[in-house]
Amino acid sequence: MNGMTNEPTGNLTSAGGSHYPWHSPTWQQIVNQQRRGRLAHAYLFTGLPDTGRHQFVISVAHYVLCEADKSAHNEACGQCRQCLLFAKGYHPDVLQVQPEDGSRAIKIDQVRQIADHVQQTSNQASATKVIIIQPAEALGTAAANSLLKSLEEPPGKALFLLIADSGDRLLATIRSRCQNVSLPSPSFSDTQAWLATMSAADSDTLASAAALAPQQPFAALRMLEEGVPAWREILTEKLTSLRQGEESVTEVARFCEKQPVAHAINLMTELCTHQVRSLAVEPQGRTSAQIRQLLKLQREIYRVSAQQESTSNPNLLMSLEYLLSQWQELPPGR
Ligand SMILES: [Zn+2]
Repeated sequence: MNGMTNEPTGNLTSAGGSHYPWHSPTWQQIVNQQRRGRLAHAYLFTGLPDTGRHQFVISVAHYVLCEADKSAHNEACGQCRQCLLFAKGYHPDVLQVQPEDGSRAIKIDQVRQIADHVQQTSNQASATKVIIIQPAEALGTAAANSLLKSLEEPPGKALFLLIADSGDRLLATIRSRCQNVSLPSPSFSDTQAWLATMSAADSDTLASAAALAPQQPFAALRMLEEGVPAWREILTEKLTSLRQGEESVTEVARFCEKQPVAHAINLMTELCTHQVRSLAVEPQGRTSAQIRQLLKLQREIYRVSAQQESTSNPNLLMSLEYLLSQWQELPPGR
């Protein structure tokens, strides 16, 4: 994954406080609160990963810290001392709390650092200290309870910005101490339009990429860069050839191995579903045996897929060969 376009989560570069087009209504809501002096002291932003939600939150931090006159600026000015710090990718008043060292959890020690951060002498006398916590789901019970204390009695002038997929897995007490803001995901056409600004691929390829990761434009872009849409097109043809006996199970399995196995499994699932749907509208009797066979294959695909996700880590090539040999047994079709 490294080197590819992941939704940035590390540094603070927010290019003058920019956010993505699909976040504009929410952005305006925050701007209005700031202008009226009604900014909450803690926010919980919920939304799908790979939608630019971290960028949005960085932009909020940037906008709040920017020294320009907010009544004249809808975004950070990009020129003041604070903005120049942001442009360097580091701002002393912003603390980012996220799992460290390959851990999936935010540790209690990291939460304890928040109080120190807020009490530290700021780079400017009256500055707000911003604490970004992502993903908030990574807070264990002890860490969450420790955070709760800071949320209840902020140790100074602090703005807490929490990011989560949904609030469901958070302590209700954390949720209730934050203003909950749901971040919208882009529509299919928004995703396609945005991908077109990021990639030189033709519109069909962009549409396939957008369809592969509905509402998650960064995931779609990543797949585009990894050549997944083009790869799937070739695999679709190979699966047809397999059923027609023009290609062998081993050949197709080797081709599948060139991408994460989930991509091949997802494609087979889609193709099965598509065929079941198209058979279901045809007269009964002639097709019911085929449908049964497809549904049986689909169950096998789910089983192998679950195996892949579990820790048992079975032999990939063997699993693929097994599925493909089942696929080969299907009667010839479209
Ligand atoms: Zn500024």
